Amino acid sequence: MKDIVLAGIQWSGKWTQSALLLNQFKDSLRYFEAGGILRALQSKPNAIGEYVSSIINSWALLPDQFMVKVFDLFLFGMEEGKSILVDGFPRQIAQMHGFVERMNEYKRDFVVIVLDINKEEAVKRLTSRRMCKSCGAILNIHLHACDSCTECGSSDLYQRVDDQDLDAINTRIGLFEKETLPVIQHLEWLGVVKHINGNQPVEDIFEEIKKIIW
Ligand SMILES: [Zn+2]
Repeated sequence: MKDIVLAGIQWSGKWTQSALLLNQFKDSLRYFEAGGILRALQSKPNAIGEYVSSIINSWALLPDQFMVKVFDLFLFGMEEGKSILVDGFPRQIAQMHGFVERMNEYKRDFVVIVLDINKEEAVKRLTSRRMCKSCGAILNIHLHACDSCTECGSSDLYQRVDDQDLDAINTRIGLFEKETLPVIQHLEWLGVVKHINGNQPVEDIFEEIKKIIW
């Protein structure tokens, strides 16, 4: 199986597809989820944890090469015969160069899968996010086509303030277009990018991904 980098705008379905992949190929996939890895580092009472915390708490950005170094360690520890699933990385051009360099160094065969959804669909999904008042679950009433909680059945759902805010949504989309799209374009020149129409049903997207990675 090839190494996979999942890319796409927020709510493109990346999280759902990662979960499906990790579930079906749990014995052969190792997951590099940048956000989760940073949170895990941050929670450790040691010098690295303090460093990451201090930067995140002061709203500064970690140096580009920090994540590349963490990814390097991750590659170093990879067991033979396993594949990688990457989410949330590389985010900027400098990170991308570091990423490609490391992947080549370790002779990894990888594909970047972009889940494409148009702006209207992204807005529709973002604005249809609901939180369950009884159990705290996060649902998407548009994706799940439901009006009650899929976890506990409660119909007491509410919308977070920042999900109602179209300006905030446009800012998030703008950030993706400004930062991540150039990364994808660069990777396209390397011939490692495949696009999937993210407006399809979840199962159809999963089938397409499986065809690409084998
Ligand atoms: Zn619930």
